[in-house]
Amino acid sequence: MNAPGDVPIPPGAWLGLLGGGQLGRMFCMAAQSLGYKVAVLDPGNDSPAGSVADQHVHADYLDPAGLARLASLVRAATTEFENVPARALEFLSRRARVSPTAESVAIAQDRMREKTFLAERGFALVPFAILATADDARAADPALAPGILKSARMGYDGKGQLRVHTAAEFEAAYRAMGNVPCVLERFVDLACEVSVVVARTASGSTATWPVAENRHRDGILDLSIAPARIGAELAERARDIAHRIAEALDYRGILCVEMFVTRDGALLVNELAPRPHNSGHYTIDACVTSQFEQQARVMAGLPLGSTRQHEPAVMVNLLGDIWFAGGSSPAREPDWTRVLRHPQAKLHLYGKSEPRRGRKMGHVTCLAPSVDQALDVAREIRRDLGIARAADTMGSTA
Ligand code: AMP
Repeated sequence: MNAPGDVPIPPGAWLGLLGGGQLGRMFCMAAQSLGYKVAVLDPGNDSPAGSVADQHVHADYLDPAGLARLASLVRAATTEFENVPARALEFLSRRARVSPTAESVAIAQDRMREKTFLAERGFALVPFAILATADDARAADPALAPGILKSARMGYDGKGQLRVHTAAEFEAAYRAMGNVPCVLERFVDLACEVSVVVARTASGSTATWPVAENRHRDGILDLSIAPARIGAELAERARDIAHRIAEALDYRGILCVEMFVTRDGALLVNELAPRPHNSGHYTIDACVTSQFEQQARVMAGLPLGSTRQHEPAVMVNLLGDIWFAGGSSPAREPDWTRVLRHPQAKLHLYGKSEPRRGRKMGHVTCLAPSVDQALDVAREIRRDLGIARAADTMGSTA
């Protein structure tokens, strides 16, 4: 028998989304191609998802009238960013099927709760301490230096983080962060960073995609290489960890588990994103079922699609900086023929009208028979678009 969340909602019905960013835009497109209509609730006027949705409800995430309007339209709802107030999901869950649950989102959006949840269930993490007060900062284990202080809430893309070099700096860093609850982590020597996206249905079926290897620049994902250049056994362990975390959360929907690979081959969970993830964009072009289509399938109670990857892929993020390449002022639209002349490069632009440095404007997925060949195409595209010093982030894994 189907669990209640697995009773199929047929194509033609409405699905709802909180958030109007690029993840939402790609979700809309995938859900629409399955035949669903999508309503997006987002406060912005010109949002990437709002502009492709079948209906855009302009409202704040906690606006009761906006939420009621969304709930009256849709049979199932989801979110595209983790800082959506968990209360908005709770509200919607009284009227529609909601995935992920407010509880899962509440855990993932608070580093303190996330670390505690994972540590209590035996998942390996970077050594850390929770700093809820300045006293905690003073008393923290000096062995956590050198380390990184991370605000418990609202941090993303490396924001809300401070490096601390010695234990003497713990308290000052805590105060500099604004005396807000934080997690102090020891700085770990990383061989590489990887992530696994996992989908889980209401009745507990799960599927993971191949592991992505992630390279960051200035705290923002720069490129993802899939499959990751790690051994098969390590990759299997990473997928197993993602699977077990989804089980432990009794998760419903799409979850990304970011992990560190240490120089001695340990896998440490870094953080969870309760939604599709930038490192999973390669699944659109390189896998039988994308993370976004799977999100729609889970919401609609449909069977999961195959996560098989049919070709190696390298995803390059396109940040607003490219619009200013070569010192261009004002911003200049890049020459996209430089991407499109590569027949195996798939260009995705998010329809954002205002390019800003550091802003995610789009991505390119380079497909090739081998990861090395896909990396070659990615290197050429980056050079042609003026993405500086590609060698920084594109070296091979130790
Ligand atoms: P986060 O926001 O926690 O994902 O951190 C952003 C980036 O900072 C990560 O992707 C890593 O590159 C780096 N980083 C974060 N925490 C640590 C750590 N404890 N040790 C080494 N590098 C880290």
